[in-house]
Amino acid sequence: MHDTVSGNNSYDLVVIGSGPAGQKAAICAAKMRKKVAVIERKRSIGGVCVNTGTIPSKTFREAVLYLSGLRQRTFYGRGYSVKDQIAMQDLVFRSDAVMAREIEVIKSQLRRNRVTVLEGNAHFLDDHKVEVLSDVGSTIVHGDYFVIACGTRPAHDAQILIDGKRIFDSDQVHELQEVPRELIVVGAGIIGLEYASMFAALGTRVTLLDQRAILLDFADREIVESLCFQLRQLGTVFRLGEKVVAVGFDEDRDRVLARLESGKTVKGQALLYAVGRRANSDQLNLEVIGLQPDGRGKLTVDQHYQTAVPHVYAAGDVVGFPALASTSMEQGRLASCHIFGVASPIPPNLIPYGVYTIPEISMVGATEEQLTRDKTPYEIGIARYAELAKGQMLGDDQGFLKLIFDPVSLRLLGVHIIGDRAAEIVHIGQAVLAMGGTIEYFRDTVFNYPTLAEAFKVAALDGLNKL
Ligand SMILES: Cc1cc2nc3c(=O)[nH]c(=O)nc-3n(C[C@H](O)[C@H](O)[C@H](O)COP(=O)(O)OP(=O)(O)OC[C@H]3O[C@@H](n4cnc5c(N)ncnc54)[C@H](O)[C@@H]3O)c2cc1C
Repeated sequence: MHDTVSGNNSYDLVVIGSGPAGQKAAICAAKMRKKVAVIERKRSIGGVCVNTGTIPSKTFREAVLYLSGLRQRTFYGRGYSVKDQIAMQDLVFRSDAVMAREIEVIKSQLRRNRVTVLEGNAHFLDDHKVEVLSDVGSTIVHGDYFVIACGTRPAHDAQILIDGKRIFDSDQVHELQEVPRELIVVGAGIIGLEYASMFAALGTRVTLLDQRAILLDFADREIVESLCFQLRQLGTVFRLGEKVVAVGFDEDRDRVLARLESGKTVKGQALLYAVGRRANSDQLNLEVIGLQPDGRGKLTVDQHYQTAVPHVYAAGDVVGFPALASTSMEQGRLASCHIFGVASPIPPNLIPYGVYTIPEISMVGATEEQLTRDKTPYEIGIARYAELAKGQMLGDDQGFLKLIFDPVSLRLLGVHIIGDRAAEIVHIGQAVLAMGGTIEYFRDTVFNYPTLAEAFKVAALDGLNKL
């Protein structure tokens, strides 16, 4: 088989997909002086992360926070905003600029590391060959090894017509013509919640629907309660434990309708359908190499990201939970290290989570709920942003940080934060957790003042006072 492909098109490693997992797998292998190709079917490199997911949504959020003047309202009154009529163009403009720069950074990294980028849709022809189909024709490439990093797309329901205008998915948010006055969000997972909070901050009346009764079941309950409270203050209505059975459009009244199993009908100007994502593995012709994805297209891998076919690895969203850009990058790197025999310690199970709702949530380590289930005794210490000079300066009087620790050894067990810059400062706790440190570290350390990081010290003192 190998001899039918010219030497030019033979690679030590072929990576399918140029998202975070694919990029890091490719660069890691290239740094080991391997010949590497990345195949990307979209004109634009960077995957969901750069083009429709992480980067545009988080830049959109920064634009919402700035233009809505939300944080400044603590000082200047509830009616304050930087711009009276905020148009989609004002919000998307910033995302477009950041995305363009990010794409240049990625292209330059791949170029510097001599990774070949092939444009086109890849599918397997046999164990070691993939065909890349593009507008200009077909190329067949041979790989000794493969990393499948093909990512995901929004999951759709054949019964629900997504027109990209009034009924849209998360890939289409940036194409909206106007900021809707009312928005129904179907699916209160991370993506649904993040966009719900951003539109609520813009003044949109948001109704959030989910068949699950509990939001963000991996997060601390007190934090989630605070999120719901703050979203309700922005006018968000929650309808949890409610299944959407049909979505339609009332032409006469120009309204989108969501019918619920309970018999209710929710009406609005627009609807965001965010019920999860399915992997793109269905387009790879995996049958010919003997790989069988699950019902949502996910591939099973071991701790080295190796599939059941030894020379084929998979990393990123295609392998499922936690499906984050942050974890995808690391998975891609670890896959390449294992392929080319470079020892790389499996990182401790200390993944930080950042949920970029308004307000922001971040956590690392155990929750109170997990420890209670495991019958592990613990104590907590809390610092409220309202008690911190920096919290007051930023106008965030609702945020708080919770430390969970062992009451005997004082070892840190978990950190949970809601409020400004939560996803940044959580890493202080992550470092102490990774070192097996105690909360005495926070008590005995001098923090810059005024900072939000100081919350670690205040929470440690609060916790120690309880013993
Ligand atoms: C709205 C939204 C917000 C998010 N926010 C965050 C966040 O704040 N923080 C965070 O960590 N994560 C976030 N994520 C998740 C993050 O974007 C993903 O975890 C990450 O992009 C997954 O990387 P990946 O490399 O697995 O795949 P992707 O980024 O999905 O890239 C896969 C690439 O493979 C290409 N491809 C697929 N099939 C083929 C084929 N047959 N041939 C050639 N190319 C192919 C696709 O075109 C795509 O470019 C968010 C996601 C969404 C949707």
